[in-house]
Amino acid sequence: MYLGIDIGGTAVKIGLVTENGKIIVSNSYDVAFDNYDTPIFNTVKNAIEIFINENAIELKNIKGIGVSATGQVNTTSGKIIGVGGNIKKWCDTEIKKELEDIYNLNTTVVNDANCMVLGEGWVGKGRGYKNIIGVTIGTGVGGGIVVDSKILLGSVGIAGELGHFSINSEGKKCTCGNVGCYEQYASTTALIRNVKEKYELLGVSSFNKEDINGKFIFEQIEKGNKIIKEIVSNWIIDIGKGLVSLVHIFNPEIIIIGGGVSKQEDLFIKPLRKYVLENVMKKFGENLKIESAELGNNAGVVGAVYYNIKSNNLN
Ligand SMILES: [Zn+2]
Repeated sequence: MYLGIDIGGTAVKIGLVTENGKIIVSNSYDVAFDNYDTPIFNTVKNAIEIFINENAIELKNIKGIGVSATGQVNTTSGKIIGVGGNIKKWCDTEIKKELEDIYNLNTTVVNDANCMVLGEGWVGKGRGYKNIIGVTIGTGVGGGIVVDSKILLGSVGIAGELGHFSINSEGKKCTCGNVGCYEQYASTTALIRNVKEKYELLGVSSFNKEDINGKFIFEQIEKGNKIIKEIVSNWIIDIGKGLVSLVHIFNPEIIIIGGGVSKQEDLFIKPLRKYVLENVMKKFGENLKIESAELGNNAGVVGAVYYNIKSNNLN
């Protein structure tokens, strides 16, 4: 058995995972209850204790701890070295060192988007594939790249930051300081922004502008709202443009799309698949699959454990 711990900006999910990637039991704990005045990692350490006690887990049966963490992770030191967004008291957290001091178990730490693709590659949609790109579309855009069955980490572990390559040299200013980043066009935040900008034209005055979300947008398409349908079509083209470039660089067998919006098979995944297959060079598209993720919010816990098992085998 392994402990998988998925630390996000709103919650930490802890799971007891078998060596075959099956979650025996899991639980989630809020980490943002006081706007991070209590450092996330203090909450996480308490949550681990609660989880171990509640489930009567004996540490002698645990082979390792795999951590999936939001932010930029140095995978060698297991430390947070950069933070996106505004999570205070999180950067510089020594996750690996502190957990190994407490539990004396081999602990690994990998970025959450990388864990998503590792989890999907192990027991989800990516089973059986050696070259996988995972893209998570949500508030921002995250990603992970598996090349020849190994997650691409780069020199310190922060490779695969797919939200921040530029698709428009004269585009929108990004939070990272660059211009035209993928995340500024491909996130659900961008989609919602685009819909809000056309609010007056939408003919939905009974619905508050502030309440517009992904669910509302796709419901409106089903009701035949042509303006929203066009906004979504353009958004899908932007997402597709980025994927076409990634396909040409990495020649993956499968692209796995995660995030809440990936559940929209007919209105999102299908047209996205069509755009990418029509716009990549012929040979790149011949065996290319584009699919929605399968594991949902279990992917982080499972992927973190997969990385821990692989690292154990190397040691
Ligand atoms: Zn950026």
